[in-house]
Formats: sequence, structure tokens, C-alpha cells
Amino acid sequence: MWIDSHCHLNHEKFLTPHGVAAEIEAARAAGVDGMLSINCQIVAEFPGLLSLVEPLPNTWCSIGTHPHDAAQEDEAAITLDELIARATAHPKIVAIGECGLDYYYHHSPKEIQQECFRKHIRACLATELPIIIHARDADEDMIQILREENPHQKLRGVMHCFSSTPKLGFAALDLGLYISFSGIITFKKSQELRDFAAQVPLDRLLVETDSPFLAPEPFRGEMNRPANVARVGEKLAEIKGIEPAEMARITTNNFFTLFSKAILNKSQEITA
Ligand SMILES: [Zn+2]
Ligand SMILES: [Zn+2]
Repeated sequence: MWIDSHCHLNHEKFLTPHGVAAEIEAARAAGVDGMLSINCQIVAEFPGLLSLVEPLPNTWCSIGTHPHDAAQEDEAAITLDELIARATAHPKIVAIGECGLDYYYHHSPKEIQQECFRKHIRACLATELPIIIHARDADEDMIQILREENPHQKLRGVMHCFSSTPKLGFAALDLGLYISFSGIITFKKSQELRDFAAQVPLDRLLVETDSPFLAPEPFRGEMNRPANVARVGEKLAEIKGIEPAEMARITTNNFFTLFSKAILNKSQEITA
């Protein structure tokens, strides 16, 4: 059994005639029994995301502002107290994020991204919810903020869709964070990433699709879906020299250790 630790089920690409329930059926057929659907905009997106996942079995969500959207007026207006209140308001909310720093696209000014990221870390420390971190081309500032805001290393969380330098990866491991790999690890050009993955301890590994983006090989260029998380896990198993079934067991176990609010229910049926 695999768990997709990061997807975007409310993305318009999943609004097919058969809808999200069909994606979940397809995922189950591929051995993917659970998924965490990630929030990027608290004001515009979160209410719809929560009502989407609410009736879906073994499907959870996060809440948070993506660094791309940090400068949006209504997102920037959310105070720390408000974020804490919203994050603890529903049992389906199992994490805070995705939040972080993205200096590659730079859709929001750096200073505003940093302020927003710090707010999310503080909310995690206050609620004991794990953090989902998005990091791109921002290694130095990412390491500095994580160290400054988390001096006692109480923060639990994951570097999602990890594709940064090994330097950031090892710093995150030192801080106790998990590393989640996506379809990028299957791409031909990603040898440095595979070399880093080989050094990540098994008990810190997660797998994700980040669907509908980043389809793994051999589906690269197509729309990605949670069912494909097994391709990511199989590549990771190959890198680690273990059987895919063992990797599935390990990463699923890690998922429920980190996202401890997520409870697997084997008997639940889709009611939507
Ligand atoms: Zn991301
Ligand atoms: Zn994402």
C-alpha cells in the first residue's frame, strides 16, 4: 500500500466528468490507499478543498499559503492567530502548508515570502501540526529561517518535492525533517538527486506525486495523478536496493508517523 503525501485534488485538471472519486478509484487499483491534498491559498481555495476531501475516505488536507501567493492581499492579511484557529478547526486538516520560499518563480517579493513562511512555522510550533515546506532556489534563506524559528528543533515536517541541493537536504535532515521525493527522481537528468536520495535514512523518506504536475517516467508530459506515486516509490526502492513492497511499507509507516492526525480507515466507502 502506498500513500501519496502531496497532491492537489482540487486542481481544475481533476475536474473531469468522472471527478475526483474516479481518481481515487484509479489510485486504489494501483495500490495507493490514501492521499494528502495540499492547500495553496487559504482564502480563495481552502473552503472548497475541505468540502472536497471531507466525504472522501483516507483523504486528508493541509492549510497554508504557497510562497507564490504570499503577497496576495487576502493571504497576507491572515494573522498567526487566525492561521492557528483555522488549522485546528477540522479533523481532516492534518498539516500546515504548503509554505516556504520560491526564488525561482519569484511571484511574491522575497521579504513577504519570508514573513509568510515564518508565520507558518510559528503556527506549526503552536499547534504541533507538521509543516509542508516548498523550497526552490532559496537554500541559504531556507536554512537560516528554519534554524532561527526552530531553535529547540520541535518543528516536525517535510521538505516536499525535494529537488534542492544536498546541502539543504542534509540541513533539513539535521533539523529532524522528512524528505519527500516526487516524479523528478525518475527523470534522466536527476542523478544528483538520486545520489542524495541514496543517503536519506529510510525512516525519513516520503513519496508524493505533486499531481496534476510532474508526472514520473514513463508518463512524463502527461497529466499526473495520485495513482502514479507507485512509480516514484519503485524508483526510490531501486535506489535504496530494497523491494518496492518494502518501500511502500516504510513510506506509509513514515506518513502516519509524521501526519499523526491522519487515521487510516480500511472500511470507509466514498460517499460523495
Ligand atoms: Zn510545492
Ligand atoms: Zn504542491
